[in-house]
Amino acid sequence: MRAPVFVLCAESGNLSNYNAATPPVVLAIAGFDPSGGAGIAADLKTISTHGCYGVAAVTALTVQSTQGVKGIHIPPAANLRAQLDALAEDVTFAAIKIGMLGNKANAVVVAEFLDRVAARHVVLDPVIKATGGEAELLDAAGVKFLGEELLQRCTLLTPNVPEAQHLTGIEVKDVATMEAAARKLAERGARAVVIKGGHLEKPTDLLFDGAEALSFPGDLVKSPNSHGSGCTFASSIACQLATGRPLRDAVMLAKAYVAKAIQHGIHLGKGAGPLDHFYRIRQEPAARGTHEVPQHGLHPAAEPARH
Ligand code: PLP
Repeated sequence: MRAPVFVLCAESGNLSNYNAATPPVVLAIAGFDPSGGAGIAADLKTISTHGCYGVAAVTALTVQSTQGVKGIHIPPAANLRAQLDALAEDVTFAAIKIGMLGNKANAVVVAEFLDRVAARHVVLDPVIKATGGEAELLDAAGVKFLGEELLQRCTLLTPNVPEAQHLTGIEVKDVATMEAAARKLAERGARAVVIKGGHLEKPTDLLFDGAEALSFPGDLVKSPNSHGSGCTFASSIACQLATGRPLRDAVMLAKAYVAKAIQHGIHLGKGAGPLDHFYRIRQEPAARGTHEVPQHGLHPAAEPARH
């Protein structure tokens, strides 16, 4: 007698009986932070909480804790190219998020990759320096290449205030100067730009979508535990775009997600702790029909009143 499950799998040409639908795949290209607060780790956590599937190509290995970046090792750019090619041969990306690149050689590899894959949504977080530190996360030649070449291949650029100033030479201190900087980046080829106002007294973000500027006011969330907020914001936008949201909604929802994740920031180590990317899961009330049973943990029950 044939086992029905095996027949089904064999006929579909699939040797596994696992038949779940594939969630949108989001590719993160970034550096690794061993403390798990920023970079690839932040990206993958964010992508997971948004119901997408995260794959990643690592540009650099940082030596870092909550107390700051203590060293950076950048593997040969050919290794990054091989990681990207292996993934691209295998899966289709619903969106790509780019963070720390380390040096120009990696930035060139990513530009060539974007020319090959023609992805619909490419969010570029132009990481130049570590927040609250002097560590250089992209060398000077890389910054020049990013500002002249890479940004033209992306659908959204997400600089913070120091990054916007560095890339444009405009002193950014309020919404008007944010708009001037965003328009200058758009003139250089960025299709859309959102400047994050987290470094300003009133943390308004400004989105220039290529046609008009929109501001997204917010309240400053005072917390020492905000390490990785830039990575998280860009990844969250990439996921919202991957799941079909328009750009404005994606920015608004990502801003709300990051603010909540900072509010729930984790006290880890002796320095700046990470966001709680999973605050939504921890807040989730038990589903209807389940209740806590001390000796069994969370227990599904058809009749919650009887036990
Ligand atoms: N990517 C990596 C690997 C980092 O180590 C850092 C900061 O240290 C960043 C990105 C930028 O972090 P943030 O999101 O706090 O700007």
